[in-house]
Amino acid sequence: MRFHVLTLFPEMFASYLCEGILARAKEGKLLSVNFHDIRDYTHDRHRTVDDYPYGGGPGMVMKAAPLFEAVETIRDSGELAGSSPVILLTPQGRTFTQVVAEELASHSEIALICGRYEGVDERVADHLATDSISIGDYVLGGGELAAMVIIEAVSRLLPGVVGSAESPANDSFTTGLLQHPIYTRPASFRGRNVPEILLSGHHAEIARWQRRESLRRTFLNRPDLLDRLPDGALSEYDIRFLEELSGPRNS
Ligand code: SAM
Repeated sequence: MRFHVLTLFPEMFASYLCEGILARAKEGKLLSVNFHDIRDYTHDRHRTVDDYPYGGGPGMVMKAAPLFEAVETIRDSGELAGSSPVILLTPQGRTFTQVVAEELASHSEIALICGRYEGVDERVADHLATDSISIGDYVLGGGELAAMVIIEAVSRLLPGVVGSAESPANDSFTTGLLQHPIYTRPASFRGRNVPEILLSGHHAEIARWQRRESLRRTFLNRPDLLDRLPDGALSEYDIRFLEELSGPRNS
């Protein structure tokens, strides 16, 4: 899979992409990340990428022309198919979730546009980007962190990027629930013990405990996830357990 990142600060990404699974994925040629400095697509002496907002107001606005030219140049080079997503990173976009990560992982090339300043000329959202994504309801100074979040979350889903030892199949959100609690040695730490069932060696019992704890955690911390589970995702046993957690119903 190939990401194209359009940014004013390509150097921000270097150390992050040199570590962990992303570095391994790049070495294994499962992933490539190409950086495009937006200033390289300007034509004036000062390499201007921003200008004052029409109608007044604070801050500067990123100009449309360098971004259009950058995307068109990447497309013309054959490194980004016309049908590949061009994603504008903006707090005003649809929220990035595991479901969106899975959707993006089905593409072989994606372009990510990182904004800065007050944001990006609206014509980029309207006529260049095919999608707008926010990584959460807060405002960052630029889209670079958002691009890194998306690159990492999507890359973890590519076959071969994450070893089976760290399989994403049981991760929170992948199953629609939060993951159950996890522990490692020692079995007793400062008087706090690992739940006995995990030391029992009874695999079926352990799986039942993990499912219950996963449901409990989701019920307590993220009940909204339970409402969004597809039909049939919960067994009768799960439903009874959730009813127990909710306490007696008023009749
Ligand atoms: N004035 C804009 C607004 O109110 O929507 C915010 C601009 S922000 C300071 C500058 C850039 O950071 C944005 O253009 C976007 O690329 C990036 N950014 C900030 N928060 C983000 C978020 N939650 N998700 C994705 N990108 C974000």
